[in-house]
Amino acid sequence: MTPASEFLLSPNVAQLRESATIAVSQRAKALRAAGRAIIDLGAGEPDFDTPPFIRAAAQRAIDAGATRYTAVEGILPLRQAVADEANRRWHGTDKVTAAEVVISTGSEQSLFNACFTLFGPGDEGLIPTPARTRYYEMVSLARATAVPVMGDPARGFKVTAAMLERAASPRTRGLMLNSPSNPTGSVYAPDELRAILALAHERGWWTLSDEIYLRIAYGKPAASSLDTAPSRDRLVVVNGVAKAYAMTGWRIGWTISSATLGAAMTALQSHTTSNATTVSQHAALAALSMRDEADAAVCSMVAQFERRRDAALSILSSEPAIHVLAPDGAFYLYLRAPGAGKVADAGSAFAKRLLETADVAIVPGSAFGTPDWVRVSYAADQAQVEEAMRRLVTAFRDSP
Ligand code: PMP
Repeated sequence: MTPASEFLLSPNVAQLRESATIAVSQRAKALRAAGRAIIDLGAGEPDFDTPPFIRAAAQRAIDAGATRYTAVEGILPLRQAVADEANRRWHGTDKVTAAEVVISTGSEQSLFNACFTLFGPGDEGLIPTPARTRYYEMVSLARATAVPVMGDPARGFKVTAAMLERAASPRTRGLMLNSPSNPTGSVYAPDELRAILALAHERGWWTLSDEIYLRIAYGKPAASSLDTAPSRDRLVVVNGVAKAYAMTGWRIGWTISSATLGAAMTALQSHTTSNATTVSQHAALAALSMRDEADAAVCSMVAQFERRRDAALSILSSEPAIHVLAPDGAFYLYLRAPGAGKVADAGSAFAKRLLETADVAIVPGSAFGTPDWVRVSYAADQAQVEEAMRRLVTAFRDSP
């Protein structure tokens, strides 16, 4: 083998784009290592520690011998706990059963399992945009075509059933939904979700509903697809413990689908990663089943996110030229970069300037298919968020 051919990547991955969120985090870490006091508002990760009752449950599980393989699809009590939680929302007669739940190594893997199992060559997957680069890549890795459907900025970039219908073709096989949304923080109202799910049902499309931020909503609870879908046929609900319970590093996610699709995804997972980490499954079980402790922990974290959101919005409102979406969920602010509409990729230019001159890391909107915008995470210490917003306002005013 020649050195050149040794490094020639397979077409499977040759087209993959780098995750801009990870790229920003790496640049921020490098600047930090060089001694700069960077405020990192790039990461999509709660800054809280995993609640003590979950850590204690994991320690107990290790001592009790939870150190071996489990079934590929996960331990039954966790699958049952996921099904029980789903049934508090789902009012159809076909109650969710543990057989319809597949536990994976994070909701990212669950989304990938679903895309890879459902989509194939010739298929199109509709992706309401802005969305994470990963959605487009996952559809492409399944050798299907990702079709971006641009949301309406005046409606927090949410799409409507009519917009999806216009973007659809006879090849449309399914769509990705993400409410509350990363990157916009927008939350679909029950009626908005209902209309989209009704259309998908009527057309026979698969709906992959990424609900990882479901419990992080302000004012009123966010609706799940399970609250609003006309049927569970062709519905795949994806969730996990990462965001609501501050458990990003434990790597536990799941799908709720039909048992037939679940079996196909389990088969795929059996040939890739096999079961999710055993001790993490026990930790996730505590998060889902010790409900009083979990509710108290989630409420306290969500209240802190809400205070940070309000503080950040209040500082940003001091500059009327800043157009920011007021988020109802997740922990991101999406705002229009200075120069938007006038210069190409205004978001990247602003994110770069903010990092290099004001020591604040944010993510350019090009990472989500909207290059005029930037994403700011407020999952960080409130004083730091406030300081960063003051610097952002100054940088915005000083922009060319
Ligand atoms: N979905 C969305 C919309 C996300 O923002 C993220 C994390 N950035 C994930 C999924 C990943 O979740 P997990 O840690 O469970 O893989």
